[in-house]
Amino acid sequence: LKSPYHGGHLEVIVGPMFSGKSEELIRRVTRAVIARQRVLVFKPALDDRYHESAVASHAGRTVHATPVRGAADIRAQLSGEGTLLHAQGEVLPDVVGIDEVQFLDDAIIPLALELADAGVRVILAGLDQDFRAEPFGFMPELLARAESVEKLTAICTVCGAPATRSQRLIGGQPARFDDPVVLVGAQESYEARCRVHHVLRS
Ligand code: ADP
Repeated sequence: LKSPYHGGHLEVIVGPMFSGKSEELIRRVTRAVIARQRVLVFKPALDDRYHESAVASHAGRTVHATPVRGAADIRAQLSGEGTLLHAQGEVLPDVVGIDEVQFLDDAIIPLALELADAGVRVILAGLDQDFRAEPFGFMPELLARAESVEKLTAICTVCGAPATRSQRLIGGQPARFDDPVVLVGAQESYEARCRVHHVLRS
């Protein structure tokens, strides 16, 4: 008897900055392409580091990705590809990947579930915590709803231990808890840190 299960599901890849989330997404997507599956990759339009229409890891590997402003853009793109959601007889991609998913809007949750229900393998990569080490926006709900969760660690820049947090530095100093997320004109940077070396200035 043929199983009625079509294989659609949700995979989430999380961790702090520099933990290899983009690398892992690229690895999974590359393997799907080798398997001759139809793969579409998206990323937030605001993340234009290195390449406009590619997912790039800090180590330099890339894969083609369409920049989008939100979940509605992805829905439009899927329709534009002749792969209308829920339209009978239309072909959906086998795999949909999204990098830096925390920067999109929470309408990504129903979209991801709809795609998975329709048989698509959905792979989402993003930060699980913000620079304060607080759960990042709607990411907790994605983690709860996923079939598979991979939580990666980076290397703490202070001690070399596994790092689970993203340290925000403003002018070389640890950011304060209530520093605005966007600071115009400030010199800011991020480092991977462990629990002990992640600091919030009071
Ligand atoms: P993410 O998408 O999670 O930000 P990337 O896949 O873009 O991560 O980059 C991971 C790569 O970054 C690692 O393979 C390594 O080459 C490099 N890297 C730089 N700094 C660090 C660090 N502190 N810890 C781990 N990897 C680092």
